[in-house]
Amino acid sequence: MEERISGVMIYYYFVCKRKLWYFMHEISMETENENVLLGKLLDENSYKRDDKHINIDNVINIDFIKEQKELHEIKKSRAIEEAGVWQVKYYLYYLKKRGVTGLKAKIDYPLLKKNFVVELTEEDENQLSVIICEITDLKKQLQPPEFHEKKLCIKCAYHDLCLI
Ligand code: SF4
Repeated sequence: MEERISGVMIYYYFVCKRKLWYFMHEISMETENENVLLGKLLDENSYKRDDKHINIDNVINIDFIKEQKELHEIKKSRAIEEAGVWQVKYYLYYLKKRGVTGLKAKIDYPLLKKNFVVELTEEDENQLSVIICEITDLKKQLQPPEFHEKKLCIKCAYHDLCLI
């Protein structure tokens, strides 16, 4: 089932479930693109090559550094966001489910001059299974979850839609 869940969806799950609902009901192409790209990462030939740069949705970029077996993501946010960390945990989870283990992951925050090592624990895996089920259920809902205004609404692409 998680083949249909993209990293962006995991990110939106933590940011706003209403945004996630809109995303799943309006823009499904990106999900496929991402899965295609992750599929390529798993492809034996490309896996053997050196560092790969993977561009997802033209928003999120992941580098795969072969030498260090490391997924590497750059986030331009000014804070370490829970959503971004879970997104990267999900990549580790996704790959582990497909037999790719022993990977490390790191998020670089250039604006903070910090990097953050992301690890996937057994507890995270259990939580991700629950999240995947919740996202799958949310996708089936005919209406988005109730609107609750938050700080980030002002910058959200769905802002006008929410305020109708
Ligand atoms: S405007 Fe706010 S409530 Fe609506 S989708 Fe965006 S973040 Fe969510």
